[in-house]
Amino acid sequence: KTFQELGLIDQLCEACEQLGYKKPTPIQAQSIPLALQGRDIIGLAETGSGKTAAFVLPILQALMEKQQVLHSLILAPTRELAYQIGENISALGAFIGVKKAVLVGGVDMMPQAIALGKKPHIIVATPGRLLDHLENTKGFSLRQLKFLVMDEADRMLDLDFGAILEKILKNVPKEGRRTFLFSATMSSKIESLQRAGLSNPVRVSV
Ligand code: AMP
Repeated sequence: KTFQELGLIDQLCEACEQLGYKKPTPIQAQSIPLALQGRDIIGLAETGSGKTAAFVLPILQALMEKQQVLHSLILAPTRELAYQIGENISALGAFIGVKKAVLVGGVDMMPQAIALGKKPHIIVATPGRLLDHLENTKGFSLRQLKFLVMDEADRMLDLDFGAILEKILKNVPKEGRRTFLFSATMSSKIESLQRAGLSNPVRVSV
């Protein structure tokens, strides 16, 4: 199948082509049509599978249909992964003018607070720093959020972000919000995160 056949709009197919993506990877071929249908997804996939584009492309398409500030939040276990996802968003969103902010620990909060003030569509963050902004950055809230992604959820739990994730989940809307959870492995802890955050998810694995 082609990216077009998965239901993606021309601007996104063109971005994939520019990046040298000739055809969807298996995780993309399975997840993207379900995501475009509005389903919550649990994706069992490793780094290198193309999982990032599997969640970024449907989010960008939803954003094209209805532009909105603080539309999506993507949580990742490490700074490196967060920056990498940010780069992917810029590359895949090259034709649609997407604004993103990356919020990670180990650097000053202030430039990040300023970036939030510029009304990004998408935030990529590590859990600790995101919670820090929720608690300390005036005017920042996730009340309008349409998409939440928990990437490498198993690693986030291994790094003891479980309690922080639960706090973040309390700050996002219950209704009208969709969730994608990606993990290399399934465990009982992941299942409890799933029950807390996802609604009637489809499981996709490669
Ligand atoms: P990820 O698993 O998301 O970290 O992606 C691994 C690498 O594969 C990244 O360098 C992506 O840019 C690349 N990639 C993602 N989707 C495709 C695709 N459909 N065809 C070729 N490369 C891809």
